[in-house]
Amino acid sequence: MNKQIYLHLSLYITFLVISPGCLDDINKNQTEPSHPVLLISIDGFMPDYMLRFDTPNLDRIAANGVHAESMMVVFPTKTFPTHYSIVTGLFVENHGIIANSFYDYEYGAYFSYGPPNYHSDDVWFGGEPIWVTVENQSKTAATMFWPGSDYEIQGVRPTRYVNYDGSISNYARIDSVITWLDPAGEVRADFSTLYFSKVDSYGHRYGPHSTEVEEVVMEADDWMGYLLGQMEETGLTDKLNLIIVSDHGMAELSEDRIIFLDELINLDDVDMIDWTPVAMIRPDEGKTDEIYRALSQTERNFKVYLKEELPERFHFSNHYRIPEIIMIADLGYTITSRDFFEQRGLMAATHGYDNLLPEMHALFLANGPDFQRGLETGTIESIDLYELMAYLLRIEPAQNDGSLDNLRNLLRN
Ligand code: AMP
Ligand code: ZN
Ligand code: ZN
Repeated sequence: MNKQIYLHLSLYITFLVISPGCLDDINKNQTEPSHPVLLISIDGFMPDYMLRFDTPNLDRIAANGVHAESMMVVFPTKTFPTHYSIVTGLFVENHGIIANSFYDYEYGAYFSYGPPNYHSDDVWFGGEPIWVTVENQSKTAATMFWPGSDYEIQGVRPTRYVNYDGSISNYARIDSVITWLDPAGEVRADFSTLYFSKVDSYGHRYGPHSTEVEEVVMEADDWMGYLLGQMEETGLTDKLNLIIVSDHGMAELSEDRIIFLDELINLDDVDMIDWTPVAMIRPDEGKTDEIYRALSQTERNFKVYLKEELPERFHFSNHYRIPEIIMIADLGYTITSRDFFEQRGLMAATHGYDNLLPEMHALFLANGPDFQRGLETGTIESIDLYELMAYLLRIEPAQNDGSLDNLRNLLRN
């Protein structure tokens, strides 16, 4: 074939194979430098807090950016599983952080999100969090708390990270992150995180409809106002892509809605990996059928499943840490034992329930040079955020369960 015709033909075929949208992406990825990304979690912030309470700073961020009606997170809707799915794009069965605390029977050790061993080992966190993807592709990550960020994962740590310490003031957290992101600073992070726990703690203690929660939500809005001010001073306004999320919602509990597990089965026959609202039950050898039958016969105000029969949409079957029997309380119900309840009583509210329930949905806001302005969108899924962040940072995502296609409409052309 004549060389000239061959060249034309191959160009033509390239055009046929790569759609115009795709070409735009490739061009953009190659030619424009990326803007840094700051991922913020306000733990337990329900999407309707922005509607029910006074949040001028969050409203401003939403008005100039993207605001989703809500964000569906993964199951179970607990802090460590859901946060770690956001940064890996993996369902829980694919990253292995099945609860905030759990015993790994194969490894023979206990994972707990609190001290003393919380950053002691590399075996717990599966998959590849975005900060590892960032660091592996010659960019810089600097994290001010995020579940997993103070562990070595795949032999990698963020360039800057801080061991979890809830006593560090929320303003000091913001100051550190601003220093790391400062274009004239030493670190010049491409990716950073911020995490705040207080809204969740107050939600548990006082309930999502309390005046205490109203006050702490207004306080959280002040943190965001302070952040915007610091961004302005550092020249980061319009240069930084902000993604503000929470990790789950909150549901009120009641003493009228209790499932006493010791009235349904003999607790001596099982090990409990987690209790409520998702009871993860590991029956002793040869006891699975008996325990499962007992629970199915009394199935009231909860659902019970054998691990392999759990509905596909939970993506919560295929990991060795998930035990044989999973019991999911209906919204607002507590699974406990008489003894525990008598000693400890109930919190005002909690989370962990079915991730389809709107009450378990989370917050999503985004704002910055790569996001649309003033876009209100429906419910998005947290599993897609890893791909979104990789796209914004112009890095190659690791294998994951999400898709950028679901969020492309949030981006500015
Ligand atoms: P939960 O018990 O599911 O409501 O989780 C919220 C609590 O998780 C917070 O109040 C913190 O005490 C704890 N927490 C959040 N992030 C971390 C972290 N990165 N390391 C250790 N503990 C954390
Ligand atoms: Zn949480
Ligand atoms: Zn919580």
